[in-house]
Parts: sequence; structure tokens; C-alpha cells
Amino acid sequence: MPYFQVYYGNAGSSYGLGAESRKALNRARADIAATLQAKPEEIYFTAGGTEADNWAIRGIAEANKEKGKHIITSQIEHMAVLQTCRFLETQGYEVTYLKVDSQGKIDLKELENAIRRDTILISIMYANNEVGVIQPVRQIAEIAHEHGVLFHTDAVQAYGQIPVLASMDGFDLLSASAHKFNGPKGIGFLYVKGYQKINSLMKGGGQELGKRAGTENVAGIVGMAKAATMAIREMQERIEKTERLRALLWAGVFENISHVSCNSEAKEHLPGILNISFCGREAEQILGYLDRKEIYASGGSACSSYDRKPSHVLQAMGKSAEQIRGAVRFSLGYDNTEEEMEQVIEKLMKMK
Ligand code: PLP
Repeated sequence: MPYFQVYYGNAGSSYGLGAESRKALNRARADIAATLQAKPEEIYFTAGGTEADNWAIRGIAEANKEKGKHIITSQIEHMAVLQTCRFLETQGYEVTYLKVDSQGKIDLKELENAIRRDTILISIMYANNEVGVIQPVRQIAEIAHEHGVLFHTDAVQAYGQIPVLASMDGFDLLSASAHKFNGPKGIGFLYVKGYQKINSLMKGGGQELGKRAGTENVAGIVGMAKAATMAIREMQERIEKTERLRALLWAGVFENISHVSCNSEAKEHLPGILNISFCGREAEQILGYLDRKEIYASGGSACSSYDRKPSHVLQAMGKSAEQIRGAVRFSLGYDNTEEEMEQVIEKLMKMK
């Protein structure tokens, strides 16, 4: 709030009030960098995960087009990645979309076999937003680097929820978004390792070391850094609590409701995502019913509930049409409670 009300100067201005905003921006950059064990100058603020994904992929593709025009991604990426890749296909780039297994994991052998002499970038999400499966990020980075290829990971669902470290995971670029870790909406960042050459997406003024033009959203950035610091500090506690709630919810649904199956069965999964298929039912109908009880869940991706297409993630995992039609995603936060889980189970049991 102080950055809306008191220190509202433009961080790019030379007057005193602007200097306060600039200091806050620098502190926030250092705080975010510390959570990743990265350097402050490797963090660029963006208007969220979508911009960070678009920028990472287009920026690297355009900066490296003399080296090659082949990109590898997976079939279960968020639309921010998939649509950027599709756009690049219209610009003369080639994209390989890796398959996933029934739990949503990519095959590392298949990844290695897909690498060509002209491959410039691998973009594989850290964890999936619909089912919560976590990909083997460290091994992907190793394979990429053995072949001299850059590795971008969309960590929008993972950063702030599970340990994500530049030093440990080895990615070259990472996208994150504040509203996934209890921060404000419409703010995020792109991590770009070292002095990696990347073309800018937003052209204009000299903000963000000249790489991302546009007046900085100081209040959003300060809010994001605060939320990130808290998420990292309380991470273990939050993971344990959310895992417990998730197990409780699944056990209650499984024991009391017939014809259900779990789409979040991978051993490596996010603690807060539980995707359940209610076979013989329509997700829309379940979501409407829950909504009237003030229980807010989503079908597939919350961010794409505008286009009601069958989930491309569940399709890639080989789920049946019936499982896909009845799939509901429950997203749990550390501040949910056991009583709330019991209420959800009870309401689902009473559903006609
Ligand atoms: N990537 C993933 C995996 C997401 O889940 C989302 C949004 O939910 C995004 C990207 C887009 O992020 P934003 O909504 O901040 O633009």
C-alpha cells in the first residue's frame, strides 16, 4: 500500500520521490534473485507469466536465428508457450512437441533424440498447471547443455510452491508469476542467466537494463518480492500442510463417490493441485454446483476457461473423452483448512 499512496514516484524519474521507488525496485530485484540463488541483474520484471514465456521463447529464437530455427517443447505446456511456438512456426521456425506418458511426464530419451544440429531452445514447464506433474528439470538442463542448447522453463506453477534454484536446476531462463504464490496479479519476472543474448519483446524506453521497456509497476513488484520471500521462508511448512489437505480431499472423494479417477498421480507433483475425473458427469455442471456453494474450482486451466476446449493436457496423457469431460481441478493453498476439505467432500456427496 505505501507504494500506491506514499512512494508513488516514477522509478525512472530523477526527482526525490522517484528515487524511493527506484530503491524499492532494487531491493525487490535483490530479494527475488536471492530466492533463486541468482544475481539481481538476471531478473527482469514483466507483467506476468504470459509475457515472460512469450519473451523467453521469441527473444531467444530471434537472437539465435543464425544458429538455427528449431525449438523443442512439450504437448502439455501452457498456452502462453504453445501459442508462442505456433506463432514462431508461421515465421519459419520448426517446433517439436514432445509427447508425455499417462502421468504427464516427458521421456528424456525422446527429448535427446529430438535434438538436432539446428536446435536452439528447449522450453519445458517445471510443473503443469492442470495436473501438477513435475518434470525432471535438472536432467533436462543437463541434456540441453551437453548439446549446446538453451533451456527455458515455465515455472509459473512451481516457483514459490516447491524449491526452485538456478544453481541447482541449471535452467538458462525461467518464467514466474506472482499470483501463483499469493502475490498480486499482473506481475511476474523472467530470469535470464548471465549475459545471455535475448532480443527484447517490448520496445520503447530504457527500463530493465534496456531489455523490457515500460514504466515499472513498483507496487506490484514490491508485493511480489514480499510474497516470494514469505513463500520461500515458509515453504516446508506450506508444502506439508497442502500435501495433507490434498491427500484428505482425494481420500474423501475416492471413498465416497463412485466412478472417480485421479489425474494427478505422478510421484513428483505439486502439493496444491488435485485433478479428479468424475466419469459420467460434465465438469461444467460440477463447477456450477460447487460455485453456488461458494467452492471455487476449475475445469482444466483457470486462465483458459474462456475457451471451453477439451483439455490438451489430459488428451496428451491419453485420458478418455469421458474422463476429460468430467475433469475438475482443485487448487489448494496453504491457508485452506481441513474443515474446508470436509465441506467439499460433503457437498460433492450431495450432488445430484
Ligand atoms: N504458465 C503457466 C504454467 C500458468 O499456469 C499460467 C497461468 O496460470 C501462465 C503461464 C500465465 O501466467 P499469467 O497468468 O501470469 O500471465
